[in-house]
Amino acid sequence: MLAGRLDVSTGTFAVEEIAEPHAGPGQVRIAVKAAGVCLSDVHLIQGVIKPLLLPGDSVTLGHETAGVIDEIGDGVTGLTVGQRVLLQAGEERDGVVWTRGVDYDGGWAEFAVATAGTVVPLPDSLPFEQACFIPDAVSTPWAAIVETARVAPARPVGVWGVGGLGAHAVQLLRVIGAAPVIAIDPLPAARERALAFGADLALDPADPVFATRVKEATRGRGLSYAFDFAGVAPVREQAAATMARGGRLILVGLTDQPLTITQGTHFSYLKQQILGHYGSQPEHVLELLDLVAGGRVEFSRSVSGALRLADAAEAVRRLDAKEGDPIRLVLVP
Ligand SMILES: [Zn+2]
Repeated sequence: MLAGRLDVSTGTFAVEEIAEPHAGPGQVRIAVKAAGVCLSDVHLIQGVIKPLLLPGDSVTLGHETAGVIDEIGDGVTGLTVGQRVLLQAGEERDGVVWTRGVDYDGGWAEFAVATAGTVVPLPDSLPFEQACFIPDAVSTPWAAIVETARVAPARPVGVWGVGGLGAHAVQLLRVIGAAPVIAIDPLPAARERALAFGADLALDPADPVFATRVKEATRGRGLSYAFDFAGVAPVREQAAATMARGGRLILVGLTDQPLTITQGTHFSYLKQQILGHYGSQPEHVLELLDLVAGGRVEFSRSVSGALRLADAAEAVRRLDAKEGDPIRLVLVP
């Protein structure tokens, strides 16, 4: 079968022919129908992120996978051949979280094997292209909003970076009743998209009266929650400076640049908080499928393009170059 493989020792990525995997005990195999291309895949290829648990040197990429079950291993109950499913982006083994497409083979392939407990049935109405990226591209902002930040309704929220994750954050904040939702992005097209996705206001971070605009939009209070989806150091300083009393800055985008709070006394006086966030739990994916089934959200606008699996390297290039400012490019075997 074809698979998009990364050799982590040399940093070489290629779509190549490898042996088809089969479902072992407790596993199912799916015929992959769609797999998302995430910025962390780009970072893996560039060597910015290294797999921590991968046995050996090479892995099939792809932690966002949907398809149809085509083989069932011994001891698996409650799943059937022909069922439409998505795969959770990882699994716990002996108390350690392994990430699909990083620490073990992922979904950039014609077939993918998964532990039965990581397989989630899909509603018939949800296309594979719109389902595959729910684990991660939607579940990560959802977990940041409901679990890490615990966003309360009718409170002002800022979203820095309206790309793959931030665009979903805007939609989800709207669903849970955050108000106003203020999107911040240097790209005019991203700001327009944020407004179309439900933001009340979209600002350029370089706007000379940025802080005033936020104050005006929040009745002078500032933001109760500021989400950094960009992982850029100046974003964090700008976000921290616009927070309300008790405001929370949630760091979702990743960077190893130092975190600076210029007005530390002010920060303490207002009892503000900075919270790190990473990934999501399996139940967040189930909650999102409930929201989709209930008509609260839909992700048709999130599919920025579909490419053949054989063209995976081109998809990676386009995402890295932000060509067309994609939310999600999807690979179709
Ligand atoms: Zn990802």
